[in-house]
Amino acid sequence: MPLPGKQREHHPSISFEFFPPKTEKGFTKLKERIKNDFVPLKPSYVSITYGAGGGTRDLTKQTLLAIKKETGLPVVSHLTCVGNVRDEIRTILEDYRSAGIHNVLALRGDPPKGSPPVLPNPDGFAYAADLVRFIKEYDSSFNVGVAGFPEGHPATPNRLVEMDHLKEKVDAGADYICTQLFFDNNDFFDFKERCLLSGITVPVIAGIMPVVSRNNLQRMAELSPGTRFPAGLLKSVSRARSDEQVEQIGIHWAAQQVMELLAADTAGVHFYTLNQSRATREIYRSLGIDDSEQL
Ligand code: FAD
Repeated sequence: MPLPGKQREHHPSISFEFFPPKTEKGFTKLKERIKNDFVPLKPSYVSITYGAGGGTRDLTKQTLLAIKKETGLPVVSHLTCVGNVRDEIRTILEDYRSAGIHNVLALRGDPPKGSPPVLPNPDGFAYAADLVRFIKEYDSSFNVGVAGFPEGHPATPNRLVEMDHLKEKVDAGADYICTQLFFDNNDFFDFKERCLLSGITVPVIAGIMPVVSRNNLQRMAELSPGTRFPAGLLKSVSRARSDEQVEQIGIHWAAQQVMELLAADTAGVHFYTLNQSRATREIYRSLGIDDSEQL
């Protein structure tokens, strides 16, 4: 299976993340963009997000199936505990298996912004580790990834306990870790070392998201609380006179990150694309590569 996992068959893996569009028009546009802009980059896989609460359940599946059928690319489905009980998850897994999809990124998910914390349903899963265990018990051939947080997850300020929770996900059967976005590679390298110290040896894939505008920077800060924006990046952004310049700065910064990560033998790089292609393609170009087989 050409995916990150214990076998490390694709090393390094290069992957792109998309969210499922809500309209028919958006859906057609995304499919065209993937075919024209992303397939030529020969990614190891593409992943489709899943709205916690199950709101995008059908859209996620529809997008996965369309991309798989029309591009032949390996697909990974994000799947969350929040909003799903066991029977629903089993049905989703059955659907995926019969469609030839065996790759899942198992997540807890977050309640919608502004709503109170969701108490786990007694028929559901409290944490991603429970979901990983359930998937592996359902069918051990599923390739299961989990989330990791180089800068720490805001809900667990105790960073030692946090690594125990990550280890639980790996012990439950996770094949690899994909990280939250970060802007300072030292955070990632340190996280990898802490994984090893905790006995976590599965591949760790680095999550990269280039800043493309000032609004986008603000949104990242809101949606990923705890994200550390290095002063060097903020200084450059504050000097920019237009959003085009901000985008160039973001691309340059991300390209430097990716270059260093690959030189350090990182297992893979996962691009959060927000369904846009320009920044990711520019990063590729600036690295002097146009497909991942040349890495
Ligand atoms: P968990 O591993 O369950 O951890 C959640 C929190 O609970 C952590 O603070 C952890 O330390 C703590 N914890 C874990 N186990 C225990 C325990 N036994 N006792 C006490 N505390 C515990 N969200 C979506 O809704 N849809 C998506 O498609 C999506 N995709 C993502 C992709 C990536 C690569 C990443 C990094 C995140 C993604 N998220 C997505 C966001 C994610 O759902 C949230 O960040 C969520 O808060 C954490 O998810 P998790 O899977 O790490 O949860």
